[in-house]
Formats: sequence, structure tokens, C-alpha cells
Amino acid sequence: MGKLYVIGIGPGGLEHMTVKALKAIEESEVIVGYSKYIEFIKPLVVDKELYSTGMKGEEKRCREALAISRDKIVSIISTGDSGIYGMAGLILEMRKDEEVEVIPGVTASSAAASVVGAPLMHDNCNISLSDLMTPYEDIKNRVELAAKGDFIISLYNPKSMGRPHYLSECMDIIGKHRRGNTPVAVVKNALREGQKKTLFTIDDFDDSIVDMFSIVIVGNSKSYIKDGKFITPRGYKLEK
Ligand code: SAH
Repeated sequence: MGKLYVIGIGPGGLEHMTVKALKAIEESEVIVGYSKYIEFIKPLVVDKELYSTGMKGEEKRCREALAISRDKIVSIISTGDSGIYGMAGLILEMRKDEEVEVIPGVTASSAAASVVGAPLMHDNCNISLSDLMTPYEDIKNRVELAAKGDFIISLYNPKSMGRPHYLSECMDIIGKHRRGNTPVAVVKNALREGQKKTLFTIDDFDDSIVDMFSIVIVGNSKSYIKDGKFITPRGYKLEK
């Protein structure tokens, strides 16, 4: 009898993977995933059968993983958390009677938050700017409502070649509801090789450094920078 683990491997650096994810990968005979993500866990998969596909082969990758899991132990991997813009949902939608276990991971917003300070301390939300599955009108509407609701906003998939202007348009929408000195963090390759963090405010935000390996975190009305750290207060009354 086989089994399918749907694993979030975390942001990329091996030490940020959960022990449970590590054990499931060790136990697996077959690893399925986007080739760049398999690269991240290369030292763990040297003796495994690998099934890697290109970026847009999600459905094929899931079908294959489910089929193999009928008689082998398989892990299908996503970066970050597999249930946040990862493979977990699609696997469960496609699953018939295969045994499936979802194993969570450190998502990009948590990883990036730790790199810049503690920006997500109050109510926050994730919005993906990818329009592959969601119409841009819906994305802009969510951005507007999140901005109005004073949520701290983590923008996933903030920029790609095909939609270079979405990020600046969405930042303009947010800017209508937030003060100009609201902190904005861009973290590229959080907690993995090539990490780079940059702090801006809404007023001086420059989206030219943002790419698909970056996440953008916009603070709420209370967020501020202290000694280079991006903080959103929870609301504790500090003794002077
Ligand atoms: N399942 C993943 C998200 C996949 S969507 C997770 O939970 O993190 C892909 C987007 O996630 C990227 O375009 C980028 O915006 C963000 N991302 C993933 N890993 C990242 C990292 N280490 N540093 C910065 N952003 C990252």
C-alpha cells in the first residue's frame, strides 16, 4: 500500500523545514515537484526516484503523484506551505481513494516577516497578484477591501513579465487608504540562498527590485520602523 504526502518544504533553506516534513521525505520512495523546488532539497533526495516537471504542469504533476501513490510512498512538494498557493488543494480536489496526508510548512509571509522584524503581529491577509487563476478585477477588489479593512497585506506572486504594472497599480489602491509613511518590506529569497531585504514606505516604494522570488509586505495604520525593524504593534500598553 502506498501513500501520498503533500509537503510544504518551507521557504527553501533546509533548516527551516519541519521535522515532520523531513521524516516524510526520508520515508518516501518517489519525490514529485517543480524542478527548482526539488533543487532546494537535493541533499535529501539523492537516492530517490524523482518526477519533476516545469512550472505550469501542476495538474499533470498531481495526477502522476496520485497514480504512483497507489503502490509507493510518494511526496509531492511545494515551497512554503503546501496549502497556501501550493499543491494541497488540487490534490484533494483530484483525489479518489488514495491515502493523502498534508504536512504544513513555513509560508513565505512568515519567513519574510521574520527577516524584517514582526510586521504580521495583527490581523493580516495574503493576496496573490497572479491572474492565472483569478481575474485581475477580483484581485484589485480584494486589495482595496484589505486596505480598507486595515489588514497588513502580504502580496504573493507580486510581479511577472506578463503583468509588470499590477504591483504599482495595487500599491496605488492601498495608498488611498494608508498614510504615506506606512512601512513596506520587499524580501527576496527569504530564508534561502540569495536573501535580500529592502524597507520602503508607501511614498518612496520602488517596485523595480521586485520579482517572482520576492514577497511584499505592507503594514497597517499602526506599523512603524524601529532600529531597522518593521513592527506592527499588537496593542500592549508598555510601561514607560
Ligand atoms: N506555497 C508558497 C507560495 C507559492 S506562490 C508559500 O507558502 O510560501 C509563489 C510566491 O511565493 C512567489 O512568487 C513569492 O511571492 C512567494 N515566495 C515563496 N517563497 C519565497 C521566499 N523564500 N522568499 C520570498 N518570497 C517567496
